[in-house]
Amino acid sequence: MNDDDHFIRKSLQCSRVARQPTAEAISVQQYYSDFYSDIVEQMEIPHLPLIICNTINKRICLSITSKGYYLIFDNYIIELFYQLNNLVLVDTPQVCIESFCYKMMAESCRLKSWYIPAINFAGEYMNRIEGLMLASKNIENDNRTKNYLFIQQDFLIAHELFHYIINRKPSLYNRSQSSKRNYFDKIIKYANLQGTTTTAEGIRHAVDNSMLEECFCDATALIHAVDIGNKLKKSSTVDCAIACTLALLHQFELSIISEIVNNAGNHEPINLSNRLNRLNVRLLHFKCIACDYIREADEKLQVDDFSTIIEELTDVWNKKVATATLDLLSKEVLQADLDTSIMISREHRTKFRNVLSEVFNT
Ligand SMILES: [Zn+2]
Repeated sequence: MNDDDHFIRKSLQCSRVARQPTAEAISVQQYYSDFYSDIVEQMEIPHLPLIICNTINKRICLSITSKGYYLIFDNYIIELFYQLNNLVLVDTPQVCIESFCYKMMAESCRLKSWYIPAINFAGEYMNRIEGLMLASKNIENDNRTKNYLFIQQDFLIAHELFHYIINRKPSLYNRSQSSKRNYFDKIIKYANLQGTTTTAEGIRHAVDNSMLEECFCDATALIHAVDIGNKLKKSSTVDCAIACTLALLHQFELSIISEIVNNAGNHEPINLSNRLNRLNVRLLHFKCIACDYIREADEKLQVDDFSTIIEELTDVWNKKVATATLDLLSKEVLQADLDTSIMISREHRTKFRNVLSEVFNT
């Protein structure tokens, strides 16, 4: 480990709340280093080291030091994606999504140093842990849950690396902007046909330049994930596209919980319909790209299969994950008064931190 690696790790310790990783840290770092070096080589990125962490911040981002950029990959996201894949793909009882949400809410409060609500939410999570363990015993393992994870981690890393590439080579991005606009036109047309004028209007408003970059990174990351999946004979093109679509839904789930909790006590409510419209644009754009890609791979029949599977999975996600999450957030955060301003003694703070870190490691 060189001085810069050391500096990044130290600053991570100060700026994030670490968990105890379930697997041996060195083997995890080794696994990702091998995996990652293949990706950067394919993308012809000369020097962009990877740092793996496991924190309740759940963020993948680029970090800069005097020696250049680093990619920080939070492996906790992959553990959470495993649970979220299960929630969508396997028949799980209500207790699974409830305990998931309470844990995420507790973690978001802990990050804001709101110890009392964090302890309350952690308590709600622990109240459900027995039911959760019983449910996990009875859940039939679905092979897709793990296979998709491999593709999803590639998709997440590739997506982040494309942000890095287009910010270094803006000309590359400019060239693709016009083709992205064509996709957006398709999406707006689709929304006009499928939904009401209000839906189409909402979608039109949600398309801004930041969306353009997100969609660009999604599209290129999909192509990368499909290549990796096919090369390693891990998954078919359709399976890879399904795994990546789920990754977009999971990312939304994690970000909406933390956004709503972070906004607690703020007089300005967050604009939920705008967030959902933006997610829809990303999903529709992604579906257009994926269908074209599957068609190009001469898997004509599979385009219909893919569209049907995506519609079914999005429907399950809407009912089992999104609605359940928003109901719970509405009951516990939006309509309740979170005691975010309660001052606690240093002694209590230490005690709460220790209790919470035990809970977060479960
Ligand atoms: Zn992005």
